[in-house]
Amino acid sequence: MKLLRFSSDGQVRYGAVEQRQIRELTGDPYGTLRFGPRSFQLDDVTLLPPCEPSKIVAVGVNYRAHAQEMGHRLPGEPLLFLKPSTSVIGPGAAIHYPEGVTRLDYEAELAVVIKKKTRSVTPAQASEAILGCTCLNDVTARDLQQKDKQWTRAKSFDTFAPIGPWIVTDLDPSNLKIEGILNGQTRQSSTTADLIFPVPVLVSFISSIMTLLPGDVITTGTPSGVGPLQRGDTIEVVIEGIGRLTNMVR
Ligand code: MG
Repeated sequence: MKLLRFSSDGQVRYGAVEQRQIRELTGDPYGTLRFGPRSFQLDDVTLLPPCEPSKIVAVGVNYRAHAQEMGHRLPGEPLLFLKPSTSVIGPGAAIHYPEGVTRLDYEAELAVVIKKKTRSVTPAQASEAILGCTCLNDVTARDLQQKDKQWTRAKSFDTFAPIGPWIVTDLDPSNLKIEGILNGQTRQSSTTADLIFPVPVLVSFISSIMTLLPGDVITTGTPSGVGPLQRGDTIEVVIEGIGRLTNMVR
């Protein structure tokens, strides 16, 4: 099922989309799904970020080829950082190029959305904690990442976490084709089978450190082929079985 969040007539709703038709949900998608009477056409609504995370837990250097292109050694355990909830934008929303930043990069990533309050689960229990998968662009001020000793400033500007277009449930995240497409040209192309630490390991590892809440996002790292964005660019994250997250740079 494809779960999304959208606005129509000034009201924000959750829904499930099939073909181009959205069935509204009466509540949020974290408990039992209950459908309301209304339906909408996908083309008539504004898509919003499909979840409202209290935190985005991001994983650095989680594809071998990306570690090589960045000159990093392979990590012995997942390398974590956080992106703030205020960095989230939805499909079609603009990424703002911050004043003073000299290199802004895209990073196409598979993200998972947490379904329920989760603490200290094993990798085997991880799938019960996950609502589904979505696309995320881990937008990064690369110049600041290299200048600062840690990554908070480089990863945290408003609009630096486009998420969407929807959350796909019942999708095995272990071998999905993933692409980063800049102005129609494929710049990143890999598969999530190349993740150094796969999704169940990440959920288990992170849940041993911090409690994960419904709607929280774990973004799993980017493959090789990262590169700079310019104002006016269109950047797309495309993942097999999920769809296409498109944003422009302003
Ligand atoms: Mg990243």
